[in-house]
Amino acid sequence: MKNYELKRSRKIYEVVSITKLLSILLCGVIFFSTYGTKVTSQLELKNNYIDIRVVCFFCIAALVLMYTNWRISSQDSKESCFLKKGVIITEIGLFILAFSVLIYISGAYASRYKTIFLFIIITSTIELGKKWGVASASICSGIILTMDIIFKPININNIYFESDLVLSGLFILTAWLLGDYVEIEKKHREQLTNIANIDELTSVYNHRFFQQSMTYEIEKGQQLCKPVSLLFIDIDYFKNYNDLYGHLEGDRVLAELAALIKKNVRGQDIVARYGGEEFAVILPCTNEEEASSIGERIRSTIDLMPFKGEENLPKKKLTVSIGVSCFPDKAKTKAELINSADDALYRAKFFNKNRVEVYYSVLEELKEDIQEEHIDIISSIKTLISVINAKDRYTYGHTERVVIYCDLIANKLELLEEDRKILKYGAYLHDIGKIQIPQEILNKKMGLTGEEVEYIKKHPESGIEIIKSVASLKKVMPLILHHHERYDGKGYPLRLKGENIPYLTRILSVVDSFDAMTSNRPYQMRRSYEEAVIELKKCKSTQFDPDIVDVFVEVLERNTQYIE
Ligand code: GH3
Ligand code: MG
Ligand code: MG
Repeated sequence: MKNYELKRSRKIYEVVSITKLLSILLCGVIFFSTYGTKVTSQLELKNNYIDIRVVCFFCIAALVLMYTNWRISSQDSKESCFLKKGVIITEIGLFILAFSVLIYISGAYASRYKTIFLFIIITSTIELGKKWGVASASICSGIILTMDIIFKPININNIYFESDLVLSGLFILTAWLLGDYVEIEKKHREQLTNIANIDELTSVYNHRFFQQSMTYEIEKGQQLCKPVSLLFIDIDYFKNYNDLYGHLEGDRVLAELAALIKKNVRGQDIVARYGGEEFAVILPCTNEEEASSIGERIRSTIDLMPFKGEENLPKKKLTVSIGVSCFPDKAKTKAELINSADDALYRAKFFNKNRVEVYYSVLEELKEDIQEEHIDIISSIKTLISVINAKDRYTYGHTERVVIYCDLIANKLELLEEDRKILKYGAYLHDIGKIQIPQEILNKKMGLTGEEVEYIKKHPESGIEIIKSVASLKKVMPLILHHHERYDGKGYPLRLKGENIPYLTRILSVVDSFDAMTSNRPYQMRRSYEEAVIELKKCKSTQFDPDIVDVFVEVLERNTQYIE
C-alpha cells in the first residue's frame, strides 16, 4: 500500500508540475506580449533587461524548487514529508509573487491576466489540501483588491473593482470545493486502505500488509544501514482454550491479546496477525537486544493479565511464546528473517513455552572458526540442513535441541573450549547424511523393510562424505561417523565398543537418543521426559556410557525450565 501511495503521489506530482510549467510558459507569453508593445525608447529597453533578468530568476528558482520537490517525492520519511511541504509552500509563495509582478506590469488594476492566479490556487489545493488552498486563494484575492485600491487613479471610477470582487469569490470557492473534494477522496482512500490492510477480528494489520511492510522496512533498513527486528508471537495451548470455551470465546481472547500487544510496542512498530493465533511485530531501527526486551515486556504483561477461564489450561495461565530475530545480524533477507524468527519461536515453544527466545545459529558461530576458503561450505551445509528439516518434518528442530542439550552437558562436564566446540558442531552436523535418504523412508509410518533399514544406517558415512573436504571440520568427523555406535559394540557402522567410541561421540549418542525419544516420530508418539529418563537409565552400559547417562540425567534435573 505504501508503494501504491508513493506511485499515486508521483502521478499527482507529474500533473501538478505540468500545470505549473504551463503557467510559467503563459507568464512568458504575457510578459513578452506586454513589453513587445511598450518598448519604444532606449531607456525602456534598459529597464527591460532588468525585468528579463527578474523573469529568468523566477523561472530558474521555480524549476529548481520543482526539481527538489520531485527528488523528495521519491523518499518516504517523516523528514522528507516535512521538507516537501516546505518546498511546496516556498514554491506557492514564489508563484504568487511572480504572478503579482506580472499583473502589475500588465496594467495592475486594469490587467486582463488576473485569472492566472487560478493556476496556483488549484495546484496548491491539490498538493496541500483545503486549508492551504483557501489561504492562497485569500492571498491572491487580497492582492487583486489591494491593487484596485492602490493603483487606481484618484479621479477615475474603477470599473474593475466589482468584477474583481466576483473573481475573488471565484478563487475562494474554487479552493473550497476542490479542497473538499481532495479531503473526501483522501478519507475514502484511507478507509479503503484500512479495509484492505486491517484484520477484522483483531484490528491489527493483516498478513498481506505484514508482507508488504517487511519488504519495505528491510529495504529502508538497508538504505539507512539500520537494523530491523521481528517478533513472532504464538499463544500457548490455544487449541485447549478453544476446546474448552469454543471458538467465539477464543476469538475474543485473540482480540484482547492483539490490543495488549499493540499497547506494549512503540508508535513506529507494526503489529500484524500473521496467521490463526500467531502475531508478528516488525520493529524498525531496532537491534536484537531492544527487540528482546520489547518481547519480554509483551510476554510478562500477558503473563500477569488475568483471562477468563485460564485456570483450566494445562499451565493454569494464558501465556504466549515469542521468537526474536534481527536483520541484518541474524538474517540477510526477508525470508531468512521470517524463518529465523519462526525458528526462535519454535525453540521458545520447545523449552517450556511462556518465554522469549532470540534466534541463534551454531553455523554462524562455526563460520568464525572455519578457514576463509571453506566459508562457502557453511552456506551449503545450511541449505542441506533446511532440506533435511523440510524432508523430515517429524525431526524439525531436532538438531537445534541436540545442540542446546550438548551445550548444557558440556558446561556440567567442564569440557575444554575446543572440545565444547567440536561437540556442538558435531551435534549440529550429525544427521547431515540424512540428505541421501528418500523422504518416503524418513516419514514412513509402518515398520521399515530390511533394505530400508540398511539405507538409513548409511547416513553416518554419507555425512562424512559431505564434509570431508573441509579440513577445519576434521575433528568433527568421528562424531558424525560414530553417533550410532553402542556402548556394548552392537551399533553401526563400525561396531565400536565402550571406550573405543570417542568420548564426545558417546555424549552425543545419549543426547541424540534422548531427543529422539521425546520427539514425535512417524512411527511412534513422543515419550514424556520422565519415561525417556527411565529408558536412558535402562540402557546404561548396553546402548550408552553409564557415566554420561548419570551426568545427563543430573543436567536435565537441574534445568527443568528446558523440559516440561
Ligand atoms: P502451542 O502451545 O504449541 O502453540 O499449542 P496450540 O494449541 O496453541 O497450537 P497451535 O499454535 O498450533 O494453534 C493452533 C490452534 O489455534 C488451532 C485453533 O484452535 C486455534 N486458532 C487458530 N486460528 C484461530 C482463530 O481465528 N480463532 C480461534 N478462536 N482460534 C484459532
Ligand atoms: Mg500456532
Ligand atoms: Mg499456539
